[in-house]
Amino acid sequence: MPDDDPILRAPSQAVPAAVPATALQTRAVRAGHSPTPEGEHSEPLFLTSSFVFESAEQAAARFRGDEPGNIYSRFTNPTVRAFEQRLAVLEGGERCIATSSGMSAILSTCMALLSAGDHIVAAHGLFGTTVVLLRDVLTRFGVDTSFVKLSSLPSWEAAIRPQTRMLFLETPSNPTTEIADLKCLARLAHAHDALLVVDNCFCTPVLQRPLEHGADLVIHSATKYLDGQGRCVGGAVVGPKELLEQKVLSFLRGAGPSMSPFNAWVFLKGLETLSLRMRAHSEHALFLARELQGRPEIDKLHYPGLPEHPQHQLASSQQQAGGGILSLELKGGRDAAWRLVNRLRLFSITANLGDAKSTVTHPDTTTHWRLTPGEKQQCGITPGLVRLSVGLEDPRDLLHDLRQALER
Ligand SMILES: *Cc1c(COP(=O)(O)O)cnc(C)c1O
Repeated sequence: MPDDDPILRAPSQAVPAAVPATALQTRAVRAGHSPTPEGEHSEPLFLTSSFVFESAEQAAARFRGDEPGNIYSRFTNPTVRAFEQRLAVLEGGERCIATSSGMSAILSTCMALLSAGDHIVAAHGLFGTTVVLLRDVLTRFGVDTSFVKLSSLPSWEAAIRPQTRMLFLETPSNPTTEIADLKCLARLAHAHDALLVVDNCFCTPVLQRPLEHGADLVIHSATKYLDGQGRCVGGAVVGPKELLEQKVLSFLRGAGPSMSPFNAWVFLKGLETLSLRMRAHSEHALFLARELQGRPEIDKLHYPGLPEHPQHQLASSQQQAGGGILSLELKGGRDAAWRLVNRLRLFSITANLGDAKSTVTHPDTTTHWRLTPGEKQQCGITPGLVRLSVGLEDPRDLLHDLRQALER
C-alpha cells in the first residue's frame, strides 16, 4: 500500500454521525448508524476485507485521497466505523480508533505518539499486561517508564523529567480501586507538555468521562464492559481527531492491529445495553460490598462506592457510581484466597472481567503474577487479595455464594 493516506483526509468518515445532544443512553443505542438503501434496522455487518472501485480512475482517486471511501478493512470498514462513532460520541471525544484488543490500543497509542528517548510516568496499579508492555517491551525501543503511586500527586510531580511525554493511568485502579484525581493530573501533564492518557475500562463512559476532566486520550479494552458478555477481544482509543488520524490511525494502517468487523458488530450491540448494565453492575457490587464489609474473614474490602473507601469523595466527583469491581483482602493469605476461589460455585474462575457472569480472580498468581515482589507491594497485590467482577445475576444469589465460601 502507498504512503499516501487518503483516509486521513476523508473528514466525512471521521466525524461522529450527527446525533442531537440527547442523553447518553439514547446515544448508546442510536449513534453511529447510517442505514443503507436496504432499510435495515439493526446495524449491518460488513464482513469484507476489501472494497470494489467503479473504475481505475476512482481507485486512483481513493488512493490519492482525492475521494473519500473504503479501500481495505485494515484501513477502514463501515461496521468498525459505526462502533468508533458510537464510542466517540459516548466518551465526548472527536474521534475514536478501534483496535484488535485493549493491549493493541495501548501499544498503538505509545508507538504512534512516542519516540526513542521519550519518557512515560505511569501508575503502579495498572492492568498486569500493561505493566509488562511498558516495562519490558517499550524499554527495548528506548521509551522508559517510571511507576508512581496513583493517588499521590507529589510522586507524579517528582517523576516528571524533561523527556516526559505521557502520563498513563487507570482509575479506579485494578484491582485495589485506588482513585486518581483526573483534573489535577491533567493540569500537571499539560504544564509539562505531556498527554494524560486514561484507561477507562473499569468505568466506561457511562460512569466516567475522563475527557471532561481534562484527559487527552481515553483507552478501552472493549473486551470487558463494552462487550459485556465475554464474547470478543477488542480495544479503542478516543480523543482529538487530528492527533488520532495523523498518528494513531497511520500506525494502525501500517502495523495492522485493526478491529475485526465481526467484533465491531458485537461491540455495537454491547453499547446499546451499556447504561443499563453499568447501573446494575454498580448496584450489585455496592450491595455485596455493604453486606461483606466487617466480616471476620476479611481484612480489607476495596470498593469506591462505599462511603468508607478512603477516596470515596474524589470517586464521587468523577464517577456516577462505583462500578462492578470490588476486591477483598482475606486474613490467612494465599491459602484463604485460594480456598475462597475454589469454594465459590456461582462465580467463574477466570481472568476476564466485565462479563454478565460474575467472575473471581486471584491477581497475585494470575493477572499480576509477572510483577516483581516490589511492584506487587507498590500496587497492593497481596497473596490474600481476591478480585470480584460482579455480574448481572441476582445479587442475593451472589451474596449467598460468597457467604457459603467464606464460612465453611
Ligand atoms: C483487560 C484490560 C486491558 C487489556 O485489554 P485486552 O482487550 O485484554 O487486550 C487493558 N486495561 C485494562 C484495565 C484491562 O482490564
